[in-house]
Amino acid sequence: MSESVSDPECLFCRIVAGEIPADRLYEDDEILAFRDVNPQAPFHALIIPKTHIATLNDATPAQATLLGRLMAVATGIAVEQGFAEAGYRTVMNCNSDGGQSVYHIHLHLLAGRRLAWPPG
Ligand code: AMP
Repeated sequence: MSESVSDPECLFCRIVAGEIPADRLYEDDEILAFRDVNPQAPFHALIIPKTHIATLNDATPAQATLLGRLMAVATGIAVEQGFAEAGYRTVMNCNSDGGQSVYHIHLHLLAGRRLAWPPG
């Protein structure tokens, strides 16, 4: 595992550090998952790497396994919360056109209602 990087100005790094509270759902050495404070579905969680990566564009090939683990953790939470059968959505927004507002990558996990496609 590569060394973890933290940005003291970053909201999600501050959640990782415990400086800002979050409703935590899952945690290991590399990853934290917590409920979104402004849910867009009956269930809405964010799965983040603990190390600071600003956008998907900034992830290195060496971090490919970590990115894959974000998806695996999301699936585990979906199963645990009972949404696997009905279905759910995972999405990662990148930069302004992608709708990214917090510049520490996070995988959204949305479930509990039928989600429209294509997204707006
Ligand atoms: P994005 O627009 O893809 O960057 O998503 C950022 C997400 O972070 C939004 O869904 C926000 O509701 C969520 N968010 C912002 N601040 C917090 C916070 N303090 N705790 C939990 N979720 C947050």
